[in-house]
Formats: sequence, structure tokens, C-alpha cells
Amino acid sequence: ETAIRTPLIAGNWKMYKTGTQAVAAAKQLADLSKGAQGVDIMIAPTALSLPLVAAALGENSPVRLGAQNIYPGKEGAFTGEVSGEMIRDAGADYVIIGHSERRQYFGETDEIVGFKIRAALDAGLIPVMCIGETESQREADKTFFILDKQISDGLKGFDLKELDSLILAYEPVWAIGTGKTAGPEQVKEVHGFLRTLLKEKYAEDLAAKIRILYGGSVKPGNIKDLMQLEDVDGALVGGASLNPEDFNKIIRF
Ligand code: PGA
Repeated sequence: ETAIRTPLIAGNWKMYKTGTQAVAAAKQLADLSKGAQGVDIMIAPTALSLPLVAAALGENSPVRLGAQNIYPGKEGAFTGEVSGEMIRDAGADYVIIGHSERRQYFGETDEIVGFKIRAALDAGLIPVMCIGETESQREADKTFFILDKQISDGLKGFDLKELDSLILAYEPVWAIGTGKTAGPEQVKEVHGFLRTLLKEKYAEDLAAKIRILYGGSVKPGNIKDLMQLEDVDGALVGGASLNPEDFNKIIRF
């Protein structure tokens, strides 16, 4: 079952690195990661750096690009926003949607997440949909309820076929940038829950196909244990993706 899911290691650079720095880091990563087998690699610099990094890597690089956000509409008078078509044209294949920082600081609701997934699919981008509970939600035993709601509301109205390319990223909010990784038992439990949920809501073959990444303080020192878990199909890495040497170690889990 796991064999059909190629692991994805994705780096979310957030609001770090200028264009110049992003190009240098991407080139270094492309060099270091040469020959890495059986893994998909993606980095998400700021939208502003996408075309620069895309040009530096070249079209056939195994290091693929993602955006960190997308506007849920084709084009129009939406000052400051970036569309899916623009992201695609800039050289990206993926887009991270509904990251907890966007939910927390920019008011992104599950409904908006759904609109953004629609926009990503319309533009031919692979959506990486982030979900995760906060510390207080976990303490109140609401983890599964919250994850179910984020998936049900975020994917409302999509049909089976459309979700073929979807990637999920489980990122417990309390583990992001905190140095606290969810323990293997916790990750195993949640990823298993998500796989079953997808099976029940959609279909067995879709559930078997969707990659579920773990995110939250992933580092060279803990990636191996995480990747050994049956339903962990990769990682979404923040802090440790900024350093190409660390990120390369994570790719080579
Ligand atoms: P972190 O961030 O690896 O720095 O915890 C993960 C993320 O925000 O995707």
C-alpha cells in the first residue's frame, strides 16, 4: 500500500530569504540533493523569488517549487494578491494552502481554504492542504473533531476525481516552530485516523493515494523515526528547510 506513495519532503521558507539568498540556497540544495532517490523534493520560497529560483534551478530540476499562498480567483482588481496562473507561470508546481500561520494571522477559514484549493486545481497546481489542532484543542480532546471539520469543510463540494492530486499536511499547531515534535505514537494515531477518514469520506483507492505529510519541528534528527510510520508520506519542514545541509539530510531520511 505504501509503495505507491512517493514520499514528499517540502520546505516552507516562510518570510525568510531575499531573492538573492533564495537562489543561492536553492542552488546549494540542488547540488547536495543530487542522486537522492525515491523522494519528491519541493521548496516554497516567497512568491517574489519563485521566478528567480525557477530560472536558477532549470525546468528539469528534481527540486520542485511551491508557493506559500494563492488568491482564490482567476484575476481581477485584488491589490497585492497573486493568482494560481501567476504561480504556475512563475515555475511552481505546488501551493501550500491553509497553513496554520495563515489561519491564525490572516483569518483563513476552512471555507477560504476550500476556495484556494479550487483555485489551485483550476491552475493545475498541486495543493498541499495544511490541517492541525492547537494545544488547547488537543488538551480538550478535540483533535479528531477539529481535523474532521477542517477536512469536511475545506473539501466541501469537491468530488473524488478532483482530489486525485491533493496532499495533506498534518501540522499540530503546538509543534510548529516550537521544537516540540509530536511523539511517534501521536503522529501514528493521527495519520492513521486521517487515512481512515479519507477512506470513509471518499474511497479506498483515493485514501491510499493521498500523501499525508507531517509538519512541526521536523529536523535531521527526528525525520527517520517519523518516516518509519506507516501513514507518514513525507514532511513539511519550516525552520530546518532554511539550511540546505539540514534539508538535504532530511531528504535522505
Ligand atoms: P517548523 O515549521 O518546521 O519550523 O516547525 C513547520 C511549518 O510551519 O510548516
